[in-house]
Amino acid sequence: MILDYLFPKRCVSCKKLGKYLCEKCQTYIRHFNFTVCPICDRPTYDGKTHPVCQSPFGLDGFLAFVQYEDSSASFSKAVKYGRIREATTEGYRILAPSWPAFAPKFDLFLPIPLHPKKLALRGFNQAELFAKYLNIQTKIPINTRTLIKIRETTPQASLRLKERKHNMEQGYVCLYKKDVQNKIIGLVDDVATTRTTLSLACQVLKKAHAKAVWGIVLAHKF
Ligand SMILES: [Zn+2]
Ligand SMILES: [Zn+2]
Repeated sequence: MILDYLFPKRCVSCKKLGKYLCEKCQTYIRHFNFTVCPICDRPTYDGKTHPVCQSPFGLDGFLAFVQYEDSSASFSKAVKYGRIREATTEGYRILAPSWPAFAPKFDLFLPIPLHPKKLALRGFNQAELFAKYLNIQTKIPINTRTLIKIRETTPQASLRLKERKHNMEQGYVCLYKKDVQNKIIGLVDDVATTRTTLSLACQVLKKAHAKAVWGIVLAHKF
């Protein structure tokens, strides 16, 4: 293909020619063979939040596919900045090859939204891309209309954790409560390092009477 000639495939992590994620970098990928509680980070049974860690507005479970290390981080960044748009599914297949059998029967996937301005600038939401991939695997419908981000926040990296939480608190809104009422919801994101975003969005959905909310992420720093 002419595009391959003009823009030869390079590994997103080590820049080697040939593949978007070369064989060597693929060997660094660590798929989770256990699940952790989204509140205390200790191992948990089938992804469910420990009974003692549960709270009315807190996450009920957590699924992560791979460790956030150099290879998966480079892949996520390449997706986020639109560098490997056409190869995204190829990457997802390597990082998240199968849907866990123990996952609950989700009614909906809700991708973590971007602020409209950011969405317009980037042209797509990487969390939605991952949700679309999961939808192909599971046939679980995606809802992008109800959970929205209403205001821009200061770039996250320039804030300390406490400020970060304060900054985000009001950011997520559930527009159509009926969409989530009594539903088991999978909140989808590409990368979770602190889970602050997932917890805040979860709170909003629980207040709108979602039955259960799980966080589902491609890569997790653990
Ligand atoms: Zn490589
Ligand atoms: Zn726990």
